Amino acid sequence: MTNKINIAVDGFSSCGKSTLAKQLAQYLQYIYLDTGAMYRTVTLFAMQNNIISPSHFNKNTLIKKLDEINISFKYNEQTKASDAYLNNENVENIIRSIEVSNLVSEISQIKQVRQKMVALQQEIAKNKGVVMDGRDIGTVVIPDAEIKLFMTASAEIRAQRRFDELTAKGEKVSYKEIFDNITKRDYLDQNREESPLIQANDAIVLDNSKYTIQEQFNFVLKLVNEKLSK
Ligand code: C5P
Repeated sequence: MTNKINIAVDGFSSCGKSTLAKQLAQYLQYIYLDTGAMYRTVTLFAMQNNIISPSHFNKNTLIKKLDEINISFKYNEQTKASDAYLNNENVENIIRSIEVSNLVSEISQIKQVRQKMVALQQEIAKNKGVVMDGRDIGTVVIPDAEIKLFMTASAEIRAQRRFDELTAKGEKVSYKEIFDNITKRDYLDQNREESPLIQANDAIVLDNSKYTIQEQFNFVLKLVNEKLSK
């Protein structure tokens, strides 16, 4: 095992992409990059600066202010994962809130936002050894990734998982609110003009309603070992 590879994990909202990507990165000692967290962080910045709310969106102001957004990640010893930072402030929890989830797909449609995020992502991936999850990783960000996975699961299963996750953290949300958010984001992410969510031709589909987390991990690990032994 000498050469490092890049692994792209794309798919619908809340279908376990980050669980798998984190497991792989930890096992392989690779960098894990949650690109959804980056779009969520831009969304939070826009909310905090009154650029977006459920009733208005001033796209041009956001484009003008893009240079004021600095996104970074720092490893959190307690959670054993990286936390997202917006201009040096830890925003890991707040970017997962339903308020941010409800607006993020508006923000992620904007070409200039995507250009900025993709440039950062490509910089991180250029030396290989990265597991990245998102919507356009295998198609746009690292189309030369050695392994591309495309994850799916039914909207009901995904909504239930996200509901359990958020209520465990004490957030007051209803299952319906989450289900509606997930299906709306799926629609917007698949139908936007800029890098829509589509399966790369050479991606391997993983329907994770059919597998346990461990089975899924073992399946992908086999693929990784095959690639690394070539
Ligand atoms: O992965 P997560 O659900 O946290 O992503 C939040 C949102 O960010 C997605 O619904 C999508 O609009 C956007 N996104 C994207 N491209 C990526 C990752 C996320 O457009 N590579």
